[in-house]
Amino acid sequence: MESLELNHFWEQVKAELINVLPENAHPWVYPLEVSAYDKGVLTLVTGQIMGRDLLRRNHYSQIVDVLKKLSKNENSDVEIIYDANAAKSLKKESEKIQKKVAEATLKEQAMENLSYMQSASNLNLKYKFENFVVGETNEFAYKVTKSVAEAPAKKFNPLFIYGNSGLGKTHLMQAIGHYTLFNNSKLKVKYTKTEDYINDFISNTRESKEQVQNMSKFNRKYTNIDIILIDDIQFIEGKKKTMDSMQHTFDTLYNKGKQIVITSDRVPKEIPKLTAALCSRFEMGLMLELTPPDVQTRFEILKKLAVEKDLKYTEDALKYIARNFSNNVRELEGAFNKVCAYAEVSDLEFDLNLAKSVLKCEEAESELTFEAITNVTSEYYGVNLDDLKGTARGQKVSEARHMAVYLSRELTNKSFVTIAEYFNKKHTTIMFAHEKIKKEIQVNKELSNAVREIKQALKVL
Ligand code: ADP
Ligand code: MG
Repeated sequence: MESLELNHFWEQVKAELINVLPENAHPWVYPLEVSAYDKGVLTLVTGQIMGRDLLRRNHYSQIVDVLKKLSKNENSDVEIIYDANAAKSLKKESEKIQKKVAEATLKEQAMENLSYMQSASNLNLKYKFENFVVGETNEFAYKVTKSVAEAPAKKFNPLFIYGNSGLGKTHLMQAIGHYTLFNNSKLKVKYTKTEDYINDFISNTRESKEQVQNMSKFNRKYTNIDIILIDDIQFIEGKKKTMDSMQHTFDTLYNKGKQIVITSDRVPKEIPKLTAALCSRFEMGLMLELTPPDVQTRFEILKKLAVEKDLKYTEDALKYIARNFSNNVRELEGAFNKVCAYAEVSDLEFDLNLAKSVLKCEEAESELTFEAITNVTSEYYGVNLDDLKGTARGQKVSEARHMAVYLSRELTNKSFVTIAEYFNKKHTTIMFAHEKIKKEIQVNKELSNAVREIKQALKVL
């Protein structure tokens, strides 16, 4: 047999052996190598003495049966021999495997260290950049915080993030912590809520014999670090001594070239009784405002939550929630979780009906006007508004007109008759235009993109 043919034959035999032999014999089969096949006798080589003996003793007849079956030769036989060279290469193989295992263990160890450090710095594993949904309204905030994370103390120092509750301040702040730790696990990151800082400060300044030691321990804890993340600084209001301590912490870190990130629900000037010294320090770097996400981003956030939960849902249910919870991501998530819980407990599908019955939102009437729709559409296509509403012909104008009609029907609750009045056309013409676009977006990518982009400009889903 040619060696190519021999190898091929052996691969077939081996596959069949794995098939028929019990699992505990597999470790002896895998290292077997084929040496010859002559007059029905297959010679196999192994580097394992024990493998040779066990296969010979326990599985000899099974192996011969496999040979007979595959070669259709009744005089088949097998010879298994031990070879020290095979043993050497086997040893090399196993050393390679051991090395790989060791490397993997090391990597695992590093990941463990990292997660230990993340918890030591009080970070919540959920609050990473990967889990933050970026849209038009928060893209700037995302980029700024990411660039701080990429180059701590090099760009925006201090970084002061402010905005209403539930908009992602804590999330982005902690994302900086995770990101820096992941890229350089030697960095010392400390996340602290302002209340905890205050309590820590108070308990360490209590009069006692160890007061001096306690204070220096306290100072070391907050200044012997590379990145400090202080959450909800507005709670420091009026606490004079804590503010002085915060000023000391701030100055020490700042002068050592360490990154400072602070969040607050308002700008420094609006924090009551904040010392002028702290106020001016907080304003020294970049003041980054977080604003509520737009409806598309809210929808994307919900989709992400649904995917994480591996949830079966209908899009209109998520759209309903996205439309109705506009000011606060925490409440948006809360609404989603509430519907989820109902779906789970009552074994119902997460659909629009369920969302409506659970959340009972009073949906504001769509405020979108025909004017807004036609304006944006004419702008999108670069056609004159009068042409769009008139009788001008030409492919671009017609498409823009049909699109404006289609969107007027889809995005308002108005009848074809009312729409027809606005466009000064017969209502059958309007119905035809609507139907045409509706059909065509199923197959025409460019057109469905146009729908998406115009809706985006109109800030609707
Ligand atoms: P804040 O600190 O401003 O009060 P949080 O950072 O605690 O708000 O955010 C509230 C919740 O909303 C968190 O669960 C957070 O993960 C989530 N969240 C906020 N913005 C986003 C976003 N853009 N993408 C994903 N989740 C977000
Ligand atoms: Mg917060």
